Amino acid sequence: MNILVCVKQVPDTTMIKIDPVTNTLIRDGVPSVVNPFDGYALEAAARIKDQAPDTKIVVVSMGPEQAKNALKECLAIAADKAYLVSGQTFGGSDTLATSYILSRAIRKIEEVEGRFDAIFCGKQAIDGDTAQVGPEIAEWLSCPQVTYGLSAEAVEDGLEVVKEGDDGNQIIGIDFPCVVTFTKPSWDPRYPTIKRKMAANRAEIPTLGEDAFPDIDTSRIGLKGSPTKVKKTFVPQRKKGGVLIQEESAAEAAQKLTILLGEAHII
Ligand SMILES: Cc1cc2nc3c(=O)[nH]c(=O)nc-3n(C[C@H](O)[C@H](O)[C@H](O)COP(=O)(O)OP(=O)(O)OC[C@H]3O[C@@H](n4cnc5c(N)ncnc54)[C@H](O)[C@@H]3O)c2cc1C
Repeated sequence: MNILVCVKQVPDTTMIKIDPVTNTLIRDGVPSVVNPFDGYALEAAARIKDQAPDTKIVVVSMGPEQAKNALKECLAIAADKAYLVSGQTFGGSDTLATSYILSRAIRKIEEVEGRFDAIFCGKQAIDGDTAQVGPEIAEWLSCPQVTYGLSAEAVEDGLEVVKEGDDGNQIIGIDFPCVVTFTKPSWDPRYPTIKRKMAANRAEIPTLGEDAFPDIDTSRIGLKGSPTKVKKTFVPQRKKGGVLIQEESAAEAAQKLTILLGEAHII
């Protein structure tokens, strides 16, 4: 089986700076990590590989040169190959442009790695938080998709995905090729081994720049090709105050809450 995992490098802390002119995130110089939900997607792929060791896991990230560190982390954990998608004209892309470029990159990488049976993404990136890129990739590639995956198991010609739902989990069968986005499961992803870490540090990660996509529709990429217009960004003022309810039991806490809401004429 051939699995591609989309990985975004995100700021490690709350040190997110915003360019006041373009209203976009400034990522250069900010400590970064692999988006945690992408770690769950990678772990889901690794678990499939545990069952079928001939499975190949390829990771791809679109971002600046420093995103190679995130890719190396994925190589150290479970990935076999990594590709960076990076170019001046890709900067300023919103989710639609990002997913368009990634879908073109996926087709390009397939020329080397072979057709991907499944494309795994995180449910959302913890900085952008839109949860749009995975489903958009599925649309660009005309693939079926399952979102909010907790785990996936390879079955004949497809996957069985355990999907988190509001009223419990569902098991959904999906045919290859498909896109699955993953949310936080009850288990933790595996850690890298020293041996894999050393190999990852030595790994050459190819960069796909603009020249790799001579046929790309330039009206769909970058800031100019992005239909999202950020009108204003601001940090919301937090109101001080609040009441902490710390009763012995849930029933007592609910009773206290009811009294307080009644006193405030809310109920
Ligand atoms: C007008 C505008 C301009 C922007 N300019 C820039 C800019 O210059 N530079 C910049 O970095 N961002 C920029 N952004 C933010 C950028 O559009 C988003 O970070 C990006 O599209 C992903 O959206 P998200 O973070 O909401 O991801 P989600 O949709 O929440 O991510 C879901 C999943 O998709 C995959 N994924 C998402 N992004 C990537 C990626 N880059 N590579 C691989 N996999 C990915 C991951 O698996 C992730 O878990 C801009 C946004 C807007 C609206």
